[in-house]
Amino acid sequence: MLDSFGRKIDYVRISVTDRCDLRCKYCMPNVNPHFFKKDEILSLDKLKLISEALIELGIKKIRITGGEPLVRKDILQYFQYLSEKLKEKMIDELLLTTNGTQLKKYAKKLSQLGVKRINISLDSLIGEKFNFITNGGSLEKVIEGIEHAKECNLSIKINTVLLKNFNEDEIINIMKWCSKNSFTLSFIEVMPVGDTPSSRVSQYLPVTKAKEIIKKEFELQDCSLKSSGPSNYYFCKKLNLFVGFISPISEHFCLTCNRIRVTSNGIIYPCLGDNNSVDLNPFLKEGKNQELLSILKNVIYSKPEKHYFRIDEKSYIKKRFMNTTGG
Ligand code: SAM
Ligand code: SF4
Repeated sequence: MLDSFGRKIDYVRISVTDRCDLRCKYCMPNVNPHFFKKDEILSLDKLKLISEALIELGIKKIRITGGEPLVRKDILQYFQYLSEKLKEKMIDELLLTTNGTQLKKYAKKLSQLGVKRINISLDSLIGEKFNFITNGGSLEKVIEGIEHAKECNLSIKINTVLLKNFNEDEIINIMKWCSKNSFTLSFIEVMPVGDTPSSRVSQYLPVTKAKEIIKKEFELQDCSLKSSGPSNYYFCKKLNLFVGFISPISEHFCLTCNRIRVTSNGIIYPCLGDNNSVDLNPFLKEGKNQELLSILKNVIYSKPEKHYFRIDEKSYIKKRFMNTTGG
């Protein structure tokens, strides 16, 4: 389907839970966040209804996200269902974004179900700093999960959120580590999605700054690598590493955005950075399929031209955090 600006929308990110076993400070600043009630979370049947309808409308890539998607109890059943869609060639790719804590348990099964590429979030390779930024997470456990995923032949992209006065001194080391492990890497600018106790300006490290730091050590060559996401990739010959930069703040990529998002309580957002949304729940019932399709068509068609993130002002998106919308 095309939206009203002629963009082909073929990619959905579905958040299957707003819960998480970590509390990254820039994502879930409240240690005891307000989660959706259990009965508000989409059941497996409702997830299937939404997926089916979106596939009918031309969605070809499905990324499962959260919260932490792998803490959802019936997550494998949902992957199993989507895996059938892959086999039937109704979708091209089944993707996952995870914090890595549960990969020891799930990587093998995911690989068997046709997941080929996963994104793993990692903002520091220093145990104490990792524990600080995630509010209690264990780097050791995540590394163990990552290594297991590698053994299961999953292709891994590391996502690192650039955080001022936190990890600019680790940029080079993270690159070297990704190179050593044959991972791809993306650096991401922090977005004002939800208000945090410290201002977003104090967290914000633009990708231009990261590139400056890298260019003191390594040459970055333009390259044509494209992934399913908005990363602008370069090749670092010295490390034999593809490194991407996602710059929602300093250089937005809305003109080429092909994505929509569904939250774990059944709200569809045509744009992460816009509060316009539609509650799909009234249409997730037997006999309502035509209405569901028609609502989804409208949502896709009316995707806004661009987001209005401003890093230097109080967030326009105050109460919706990334664990709700899904990254
Ligand atoms: N729990 C999983 C994980 O951490 O990968 C999936 C959900 S998480 C919300 C998805 C991605 O969003 C992570 O890479 C995370 O670092 C990123 N993220 C969260 N809050 C963000 C923010 N305010 N700005 C930029 N990226 C953010
Ligand atoms: Fe959890 Fe991912 Fe948010 Fe961190 S970024 S708190 S791992 S949902």
